[in-house]
Amino acid sequence: MGEQPAAATRMAEISTLFPAGQGDFLVTSADRMLFYVHQTALLHASGNFKAAFEKSASEATAGAIPALKMEENAVTLEILFQYVYQDRQSPSIGDVHILNNVFRAARKYEMEGVLQQLRKSLLETRLHQGRIIQPLYVRYPFATLAIATAFDCKDEARFALRECLKGDLASHIKDASGIQVPADLVVYVMRLRRERAAWFSSKLDSWPWPTEGCHNCYRGYAEIRMQLEKELAFSLDYKSVKQVVIDPSRTCSSQHHIPEATRELIQAWDAEWFEMKQPLPLLYTQL
Ligand SMILES: [Zn+2]
Repeated sequence: MGEQPAAATRMAEISTLFPAGQGDFLVTSADRMLFYVHQTALLHASGNFKAAFEKSASEATAGAIPALKMEENAVTLEILFQYVYQDRQSPSIGDVHILNNVFRAARKYEMEGVLQQLRKSLLETRLHQGRIIQPLYVRYPFATLAIATAFDCKDEARFALRECLKGDLASHIKDASGIQVPADLVVYVMRLRRERAAWFSSKLDSWPWPTEGCHNCYRGYAEIRMQLEKELAFSLDYKSVKQVVIDPSRTCSSQHHIPEATRELIQAWDAEWFEMKQPLPLLYTQL
């Protein structure tokens, strides 16, 4: 307690979700937001608060509400407390960094129920103003994978891992900047992606070379193949590969038609691709 608590309190903001007069306990965030919460609600979420309440009660001046300063910031605490109050609608977390912080706080205070709800939020599809919002594991697969792995959410991690094997890895990784990611996890994701890229390459091998005997046709075909292999290294996108190989409008520089992949070939690829992309991959800790 400082020497001038009244002056300090005047400068702090009060959470609109947990305003004065509603709770019997005052929590201050690291960035000086005030939350009026109920001791019973916090105790229900975690027995860890018991000692803090007793200490605060013994230190509180007569007539003042017992108070505790927590290390988390206001954004984290506001979400954490919403989960603590089970009669409130659970908050929607669209930012993986905030989610990571709330997870950390919930684990630190051993809030089992809150951890379970946070887990659910990784896979949840939400409705916002009449629009469907894709779950976090689809929007930010690598960040979700890192969080799910760190907080021992194995099934959720496998869903996220499956998404990490599609699209542009660099942009997936960028979404996770600032979130701790074990090096093993990055290596493992890259390994699975390399295996998948090898599958794409082997499929391209079954797309026949032109048979015209025109060297411009060979060159045209080779250029398309090179371009595709280059793109594949960045983005494992089956649809865009398929788009290229079924394009009937490709010609060589002598205006010969470069044959597209046959329908039968594409059907065989489709079936194999479906079989490959559907199952949830194992985590490296499960191998
Ligand atoms: Zn030609």
